[in-house]
Amino acid sequence: MRKVQIGRGFDTRFSVEESVADLPENFFSDEENFVGNIKVDGEIVNDGSTLKIRGKIFCRKKFICDRCLVQAEENQVHEFDEEIDESEIADGLLDITELVRDTLIAAQPIQNLCKPDCKGLCPKCGQNLNEGECACDKSSVDPRLAALLNFKAVEQF
Ligand SMILES: [Zn+2]
Ligand SMILES: [Zn+2]
Repeated sequence: MRKVQIGRGFDTRFSVEESVADLPENFFSDEENFVGNIKVDGEIVNDGSTLKIRGKIFCRKKFICDRCLVQAEENQVHEFDEEIDESEIADGLLDITELVRDTLIAAQPIQNLCKPDCKGLCPKCGQNLNEGECACDKSSVDPRLAALLNFKAVEQF
């Protein structure tokens, strides 16, 4: 990513926007797939003893829903607030590449869902239940679970 100019003795606001296509290959892990532009709005705060960088990252993620397996995209906003070590600044410039990458990767949910209440697929016929109910009988219990329930019942007596 483009480097951020650091002001001395005053706070510096910055705004950097870059296309994901222009980022180095392997910028993210294989599982993470961002599209469009990544925009970083922030400020460098100098309180006399410490330098801090804080702000927001705006991005768009493309993923396969873990429940219904449909491809989806979502806009994300992530905040960051970190101290900067003087040694990270070269010629008055700060490289925020690592900061952006680490913040984005750490902020990703364990489960990727197309929407919070995604109904997923029917385990029997594979119908996407977001598009409507299928005709399958949902009252029957999975045979493996049934065996387990039987086992428990026997165990109690
Ligand atoms: Zn889904
Ligand atoms: Zn079904």
